[in-house]
Amino acid sequence: MNFYVLTLFCDMINDGLGHSIIKRGIDNGIINVKTIDIRDFSKNKHRHVDDYCYSGGAGMIMKPEPVYDACMSAKKEAAEGTKVLYMSPQGKIFNQDKAKELAKEKDIILLCGHYEGIDKRVLDELNVEEISIGDFVLTGGELAAMVVIDAVGRLVPGVLGNSESSEDESFSDGLLEYPQYTRPYEFMGRKVPDVLLSGHHGRISEWKRRQSVINTFYKRPELLERANLTEDEKMLINELKNK
Ligand code: SAM
Repeated sequence: MNFYVLTLFCDMINDGLGHSIIKRGIDNGIINVKTIDIRDFSKNKHRHVDDYCYSGGAGMIMKPEPVYDACMSAKKEAAEGTKVLYMSPQGKIFNQDKAKELAKEKDIILLCGHYEGIDKRVLDELNVEEISIGDFVLTGGELAAMVVIDAVGRLVPGVLGNSESSEDESFSDGLLEYPQYTRPYEFMGRKVPDVLLSGHHGRISEWKRRQSVINTFYKRPELLERANLTEDEKMLINELKNK
């Protein structure tokens, strides 16, 4: 899978993704991250890519032409119809379902804004899909693009090793994951739940599911409204509510 990142800060993307599992995915050729410096497409001798805002007010706006040309250079290499995702606080909030959907794509172009944002006309012309990583404002889209690439990239088959499955993880079935334990068996008087040492796979998976429901109830109760719960699990939630 190829990620094309249109940015003013290529080093930020390359440095940020040059570690751990995503780096391994890149080194193994399973995912490829190509950064494209929007400044390379400036027609200005000082390589400026921003200009004053027509409506007045503080802050600069990224000009449409360099953004358009940078995107066209990515589109030349990418598969026909490749989506252009504009990292934007005004977009739909990114989540695990969106990460799964994007992991099916062959190529993705990610556009990072800076300053006060990007001239609307080029966003319309490129028919971008706006994606936000949360209800807060970042200085630029680079951190958001890295979040998307990390979350999507690890779902591309072969990026996670056998021991790093994403199947049981939080949000994979609409619930948060169960608590995790490693050695030692006892830490500061707190022991690992006995069932996990029982070697009984059926009981262990029942425990995991129940703990997922409980964890979700306490930490993100709103997720339970959309989760696929059994009658027993609904009863468990009622018990927790009445506790
Ligand atoms: N003036 C814009 C507004 O109020 O909607 C904010 C511009 S922000 C300072 C600069 C850039 O950071 C944006 O163009 C976008 O690419 C990126 N950005 C900021 N917050 C973001 C968020 N929550 N999710 C994704 N990208 C974000």
